[in-house]
Amino acid sequence: MTCALQLHRYGLKPILLEKRELGGLLWNANLVENYPGFPNGVRGEKLIALMKKQIERIGVEVKREEVTRIDWKENHFEITTKYREASPWDAIRNTQYLILATGTKSRPLPDTISPEASKRVFTEVWPLAEVTDKQIVIVGAGDAAFDYAINLVKKRNFVTILNRGETVKCLPLLFERAAREPQIQYFAKTNVSQIAFVKSRKSKVTRPSTFDFRLRIDCETETFEADYVLYAIGRVPNVDYLSEEICRRENELVEAGHLYFIGDVKNDLFRQVAIAAGDGLRAAMEIFSRMTK
Ligand SMILES: Cc1cc2nc3c(=O)[nH]c(=O)nc-3n(C[C@H](O)[C@H](O)[C@H](O)COP(=O)(O)OP(=O)(O)OC[C@H]3O[C@@H](n4cnc5c(N)ncnc54)[C@H](O)[C@@H]3O)c2cc1C
Repeated sequence: MTCALQLHRYGLKPILLEKRELGGLLWNANLVENYPGFPNGVRGEKLIALMKKQIERIGVEVKREEVTRIDWKENHFEITTKYREASPWDAIRNTQYLILATGTKSRPLPDTISPEASKRVFTEVWPLAEVTDKQIVIVGAGDAAFDYAINLVKKRNFVTILNRGETVKCLPLLFERAAREPQIQYFAKTNVSQIAFVKSRKSKVTRPSTFDFRLRIDCETETFEADYVLYAIGRVPNVDYLSEEICRRENELVEAGHLYFIGDVKNDLFRQVAIAAGDGLRAAMEIFSRMTK
């Protein structure tokens, strides 16, 4: 959004392709406390709403489209999208400058989750935004796991965090906040071996559920029951749609100023919204400077 905003300010007409809803991973952020301009922090959702308002006001064109493939042919990008495969718009037919801000996807989930159970297993918290009074097991021990837990107990949910090791990898302040919540339990050295869909029964997590069928989470020494499981086991760059040709010529295209990777998709451990916004601004400035040389 930042990149599109700045390109628009230069009088260019960027097109933003978004497969779901603008805002991306930020939909999961409980409270963003490190984005300048918000002295009391800001909910991810609120920050998205403000950013959307900003790009709508200046008239950035947004299309709801999933990009399925990008190729490089005869000096331009060929972009295939899910719905317009047969007849792409003219505007994207001859794309010379391509900015990739497709973020990350979850690491693959273990194949020990039964197919019925997988319907109640998620890797992001936003699908559970309306869920209240439920038991939720979170697998992981990084920032996302603890942020998800703090978010979910606000809706009276009961959360169990399972860490397969002993080390907690989240910000100390998140761990402290989670430790103050009686609705959050934490178990170290608890490696999930299997998740099945079973008729409800009593377990270590004792709260009642409105579901007849629940998830049984088997670990080496314990068994838990839950209504939902949320995996927060790390993320990897989301670039599956790039053709082999682009992957092969990536450095050349980046150096020639045709291709830009911005935000989480390239930031490895430094995945933060202010950094993504900064990357976007910089890419727009570089493109404009190349165009006006
Ligand atoms: C629980 C949690 C808490 C966080 N808290 C903070 C915080 O406090 N402070 C902070 O700075 N950061 C925080 N973050 C990180 C922050 O959300 C990310 O750094 C930021 O969202 C990265 O933005 P991005 O645009 O690079 O990628 P994303 O936000 O991942 O956006 C990528 C976008 O691309 C779209 N997309 C992907 N593939 C395609 C395709 N093929 N076609 C079309 N569209 C596609 C997606 O739908 C998505 O909207 C948090 C993250 C999580 C999960």
